[in-house]
Amino acid sequence: MGRRIWLLVSRAAPLSRDGMGGLLLAVIFAGYLRETALMRIQLQNSEKLTLISELAASVAHEVRNPLTVVRGFVQLLRDGVDKERKEYIKLVLAELDRAEFIISDYLNLARPQDEMIETFDAAEMMREIKQVMFSYALMNRVQLKAHLEEGALYTRGDKLKCKQALMNLIKNGIEAMPGGGTIVLSAERIAQQVMLRITDTGQGMSPAQLKQMGQPFFTTKEKGTGLGLLVSIRIVEAMGGTIHFASELGKGTEVTVMLPLHMQSE
Ligand code: ADP
Ligand code: MG
Repeated sequence: MGRRIWLLVSRAAPLSRDGMGGLLLAVIFAGYLRETALMRIQLQNSEKLTLISELAASVAHEVRNPLTVVRGFVQLLRDGVDKERKEYIKLVLAELDRAEFIISDYLNLARPQDEMIETFDAAEMMREIKQVMFSYALMNRVQLKAHLEEGALYTRGDKLKCKQALMNLIKNGIEAMPGGGTIVLSAERIAQQVMLRITDTGQGMSPAQLKQMGQPFFTTKEKGTGLGLLVSIRIVEAMGGTIHFASELGKGTEVTVMLPLHMQSE
């Protein structure tokens, strides 16, 4: 649409001095139109997504309750059975846990309800995340390393949600290295921003794959939901930050999270 208007105006105005002014106006106007059209599409997409995610979250919520009941009773059954059946029950519980995990992904998509906004040290948060994920990483033969800048790396938002966003990203890193590898976490101050980085030595992504990052339900994993990134991006954006991915097939992926720097007293 922008281009059509550009043609119309440029034909109507010969290239005199006034014409140049008109031309300039037309260029600005065409740019403006393109931007508003783009914004409208983005808005429509986000409205659709909100609707879908709310629906998914409410279904997930309804399914979670019976699952919890089933899990409780299966656990009770475990005591009175022989060894072979105990193995079956172990399997049932593991699968129930997996279902619970998937449901959490959907529930996290829903709009935040009880947010707790605070100012917190992002480096400290990364240290806590490293502690929590250390054994999970080790189980997957992944070594977790951290380079965290000391001092005031304060940012503002819901710390628990922010942790969840980063843990989703780290989990993806671990899953990208089925044969094991290394993940480096870093936190440093860049001008008025806090830069958090997760670098893995995993399978990486092709440029075509990279383009689809963050799209709902995009997954290359047999048991993936394709919701983890979406949740992470939403959380970071709610904090006024951005997520950027750089990746090379066969080499690894670098995820950069930029968050606004805050004063501790804020
Ligand atoms: P899921 O983990 O359930 O597949 P995500 O939204 O977390 O969903 O991730 C979507 C997809 O993005 C993954 O299936 C994978 O293909 C790709 N991806 C994300 N992080 C990485 C990474 N660190 N290395 C390689 N691929 C990744
Ligand atoms: Mg994931």
